Amino acid sequence: MTTDEQNQHSDDTTSDAGPAALREDLSSQRERILEELAALVEIPSVAWDVHDAGEVWRSARAVAQLAEEAGLPEVEILTSARPDGEQGMPAVVARRRAAPGRPTVMLYAHHDVQPVSDPGEWKTEPFRATPVGDRLYGRGAADDKAGIMVHIAAVRALLRLHGQEPGVGITLFVEGEEEAGSPSFENFLHEHREKLAADAIVVADSANWKRGVPALTSSLRGVISGTVRLRALGHALHSGVFGGPLVDANVAMIRLLATLHDEDGAVAVPGLVRSADPELDYPERDFRDDAGIPESLRLAGRGSIASRLWSQPALSVIGMDVTPVEQSSNTLAASARARVSLRLAPGQDPHEAHRLLEEHLRANAPWGAEVEYDAGEAGRPFEADTSSPAARAVLASMRQAWGVEPVLTGLGGSIPFVASLVETFPEAAILITGVEDPDTRAHSANESLYLPDFFKAAEAEAAFLHGMAASPEAGE
Ligand SMILES: [Zn+2]
Repeated sequence: MTTDEQNQHSDDTTSDAGPAALREDLSSQRERILEELAALVEIPSVAWDVHDAGEVWRSARAVAQLAEEAGLPEVEILTSARPDGEQGMPAVVARRRAAPGRPTVMLYAHHDVQPVSDPGEWKTEPFRATPVGDRLYGRGAADDKAGIMVHIAAVRALLRLHGQEPGVGITLFVEGEEEAGSPSFENFLHEHREKLAADAIVVADSANWKRGVPALTSSLRGVISGTVRLRALGHALHSGVFGGPLVDANVAMIRLLATLHDEDGAVAVPGLVRSADPELDYPERDFRDDAGIPESLRLAGRGSIASRLWSQPALSVIGMDVTPVEQSSNTLAASARARVSLRLAPGQDPHEAHRLLEEHLRANAPWGAEVEYDAGEAGRPFEADTSSPAARAVLASMRQAWGVEPVLTGLGGSIPFVASLVETFPEAAILITGVEDPDTRAHSANESLYLPDFFKAAEAEAAFLHGMAASPEAGE
């Protein structure tokens, strides 16, 4: 034991031998865990319609078998219908029910993967787990088959330590269509609500901050989009005869869209929420490298890069209907259409954001043009309650496993299924943990898993479950 570890343990007021026993168990299982992960990686479980659904079923069966061997007695492979009426992809739900008064933890991951796209860009076989140094290469080696194995390894170690009475209910929920947009997820949650209900939900499908530094993803931006229709003229007019006193709809639309940002490029729609600045920053150098932008490009907005990405709104024009250049003539266009997408800071109600955006667009209609706004999608942002007992327990177990302070990170994008989980289980603490690191390249060629952090993630999760098991009886 190193001095660091001794310090960690002397901080531990309960002098609980559990975490050390779990760590030992997990380190003796490393080879087995890697073999199991490799077997999962070898199944090309792509859930997109054009791929072989048989492989997704095969991976569901493999996960079900791992769950059973880990000691979860009730294992099912379940599906629900998608909104288009087709059957959704198979999810595995494996449970060990809580004793009365004990908490239940749901462990989420997904067993489907992204397609390979261009096999020529891969340096190793995509569907063969290939160790190179301290990384394991392969499609799904990180996203998210490593997430599945973190759960399996943690549950197995916990049940070996506690035997038949772990003191915590466990529900493993491994869905099979996350990379395809989880089309049957809403129905699935609705139909299997009771089976999935939990006090805490661990979503092992995000990233750690960097190699050796664990992170809890504590905020996700929401997103809305809407269509702006602008009518400047009753009908198209000859630009020579009428141009001058009249301006075409395209110019009016450009002027209108230009009011959506201020001179710095920050979103100028009044009233939108900006949440508290993140403690972390994303160094500009790293940001520029990750985005691959030219040095001459100045960044838009104000505040730290992390706050611009995680805690402030961001607005883009994602589509425009104007006359194509090939078909252009000397005509004043009567109307134009654009679609705007607005990322929302945590704390922003999406319907309120639609209202504010519409109000701004109408108030800024140039030359009295008619402006209509059709509200489209409305995805809620997410903010974890990092002071909840479950969040504090996860952070403490990360601190113990890694021996460094974990960080709270945000995500500029959304994870739609997280919003569905929050809606279905509003009382549950949702804890988004990760197995990825900045070099993982999930969704791209040469996806890989950083193995030292993977084993630490399993150790942290086992310690978290053990802590929930040892927590005082949940009183009435
Ligand atoms: Zn994923």
